[in-house]
Amino acid sequence: QWIYLDGEFVRKEDAKISVFDHGFLYGDGVFEGIRVYNGNVYKLEEHLIRLYNSAKSIMLEIPYTMDEMTEIIVETLKKNELSDAYIRLVISRGVGNLGLDPASCSSPQIVVIAEELAIYPKEFYDNGLDIITVATRRNSPDVLSPKVKSLNYLNNILVKIEASLAGVSEALMLNNEGYVAEGSADNIFILRGGVLFTPPGYIGALEGITRQAIVELADELGYDLREEPFTRHDVYTADEVFLTGTAAEVIAVVKVDGRIIGDGKPGKETQRLLEAFREKVVEDGVR
Ligand code: PLP
Repeated sequence: QWIYLDGEFVRKEDAKISVFDHGFLYGDGVFEGIRVYNGNVYKLEEHLIRLYNSAKSIMLEIPYTMDEMTEIIVETLKKNELSDAYIRLVISRGVGNLGLDPASCSSPQIVVIAEELAIYPKEFYDNGLDIITVATRRNSPDVLSPKVKSLNYLNNILVKIEASLAGVSEALMLNNEGYVAEGSADNIFILRGGVLFTPPGYIGALEGITRQAIVELADELGYDLREEPFTRHDVYTADEVFLTGTAAEVIAVVKVDGRIIGDGKPGKETQRLLEAFREKVVEDGVR
């Protein structure tokens, strides 16, 4: 496995960064997780726009244009001879002195890891997920916007820890007002009375690329889709619940905090959207 590390390709064993990197010391940086389907990098432009916006928000200047970054990603895939893959693109503030001030960091560190995709087990899709809501809250938009995909993923990590302590594979975070925000690395949709709902960005959620793809797909397929805040009660009493994300694609949820959703099996509309999504992914890529 070859890793792109600051302008060159190095073997996985040799891909190391300094302990003075501010990404390591302070979580100072941004990242993206991108999927490659059959040699096509799915929605690369959207991922790069989100990355550059995240970087702008934290005042980190990426020393490459989006075209150059595209080239780096395509080269990394070629070098690793991968056609179905998961790409992790990380940009940290780079090496500096101890101390929070990024002024001492000379240049951002750019890392691209491309690896074989580790997809969720098929049973997860066939049976749907049993999930919970956890005590960890989504950071509120007035602090550091949840729209910034930064290297500070502690809330999300705590969500995962709380989920595994409870013996489930995923969990939902609420925001500080108690509205449902998102999963640890997935957005949420619910279907109630024939209407699809997903929390609006201001609730505090990442603007997921998969979420946007589902919003567009739902529109094409004639669903009534509303971006409105909702509570746990709305989730418990929904007809269908599903999560969306780069790794998970579209995955049904069949139980939330012990409440069975619908008839306890992945919902029909969820299945339909997953199938439509999978048919479409191959068309939307950069080769
Ligand atoms: N929410 C968070 C916090 C995430 O990290 C992710 C994953 O990137 C998502 C949602 C889903 O977004 P996407 O569909 O772009 O993968």
